[in-house]
Amino acid sequence: MALSKSQRPLPRSTEVTQGALHLVIGISFLIGACGDDMPRLAAFLTSEHFDVEIYPGAVMRPDMLDTLEEHYRVTKAFLHFPEGRVTYSLFATVADAQRACGVAPDQSLACAQGNRVLSSNSFDEHELIHAYLSRLANPAPILREGIAQGVRCTAYSFLPVGIAVPPWDTAVSEQPIGQAGIYDAAFLLFIQLVHEFGIDQFMDYYAHAHDTLSADIFRQDFEAAFSVSLPNTWQAMTQSRAGLATINPVCPCTQASVLPADGSPVVLPKLAPWIAGDVQLVPPDRVLPLPDADPGPFLIFAAGGGTALRSCWQDLSFDLGAYDLSSAVGGTLNATQLAPERHYVAVGALTDGTVSLTKGAFIAPTCDAASTITVPGDASGEITIRIASGNPTAGVDWHWRIAVGALTHVSFPVLPGDPTQISVCPTCDESDPACFNVPLGGGSFAFDAMTPELTFHVSNPPDAYTSALHLSLSSQLAPSQP
Ligand SMILES: [Zn+2]
Repeated sequence: MALSKSQRPLPRSTEVTQGALHLVIGISFLIGACGDDMPRLAAFLTSEHFDVEIYPGAVMRPDMLDTLEEHYRVTKAFLHFPEGRVTYSLFATVADAQRACGVAPDQSLACAQGNRVLSSNSFDEHELIHAYLSRLANPAPILREGIAQGVRCTAYSFLPVGIAVPPWDTAVSEQPIGQAGIYDAAFLLFIQLVHEFGIDQFMDYYAHAHDTLSADIFRQDFEAAFSVSLPNTWQAMTQSRAGLATINPVCPCTQASVLPADGSPVVLPKLAPWIAGDVQLVPPDRVLPLPDADPGPFLIFAAGGGTALRSCWQDLSFDLGAYDLSSAVGGTLNATQLAPERHYVAVGALTDGTVSLTKGAFIAPTCDAASTITVPGDASGEITIRIASGNPTAGVDWHWRIAVGALTHVSFPVLPGDPTQISVCPTCDESDPACFNVPLGGGSFAFDAMTPELTFHVSNPPDAYTSALHLSLSSQLAPSQP
């Protein structure tokens, strides 16, 4: 069962057009009836793994079955649960779902009963995971809720670092329903164990742990599986980690990658807002995994579409959660040297967009080895350079080259206290008298390029993604160089 965390209302600024509403409401399906003692269904749909019961008044999307099948496939590839069917009962309102679940309004929005999901949300990821795993095992409630909260590819299903949770022996010995603190603890415990031991070892533990509310039995199972102390793990799971403000769920990233690394643009059709019963939701982000654990460097050109770069499993020393790829009007270039782990482009916008990915030496240890970054004609001139700490070549100097074209005015902020030393030259020849160093000390720095290409040499490069260098190229005339 899930509390409201899994449901995110649309932001105020998002327009939901009447047309979209009518499109969804206007779809009709065959009428099903299951006997006189059962409520009549408005529709019954079936696919490879799902039987979907649509109750009268429930609002579903035309892509519901495709979305469910994709979630099944992606989640199964990650969790390896036994194959089987799921019955999905879609209700008109949260109140209807609560009545069918037999829960109080303040306890839960939806539920899963065995392999059956009862919800007014046509894509209830939390309850789907319960239904899938019901065929694997029924371990202690806190383990079931933790994994249902913890496997998700969204930027908003996180907890702040340092959040207070109940003591372990309380949290494992009470039913979680209606208790947000136990859900939070369940989520943190799952994330901690997956990061420390990997998903396969966690799933082995999940398959064998007792269904118990006994603190003693829970602790015995836990410590036998992981050979670490439960109280110590409990303490570690809420503690601050360097550079982190939030603890995020795990994204399986088992989606088929549709991002070729050859620079060809991929069109990102806009996502339609979802109507889930009586609640309007932002649809979940689309996940476009990058090539497996390949640190690049990559050049990503993103226009519109609300794209962001994230790690599939949150890196424990930095947080990619907030790195939009396409915040500017027009396309934005991002040259990235990634950490050696899996990343994905998340697409979450209600507008159209495109994204392209090119692998190449766009950030290199020497100038001569660097491939030139060419600014596309329709780009805004915003370029962000991101260099991950923790990669094998961290600590070396970095070089990149930009063909500025007609956008000759270059500006970027210099963060106060940032030890990054940047020198700029017209070519790779650093003895050229036209080379200059960007002054340290903060404020904004701007200059006009007098040559078609600029080379940048960065010493003490910025730490990971936390202080990526952001340049703006424009055609506007600059004030004279300071
Ligand atoms: Zn649950």
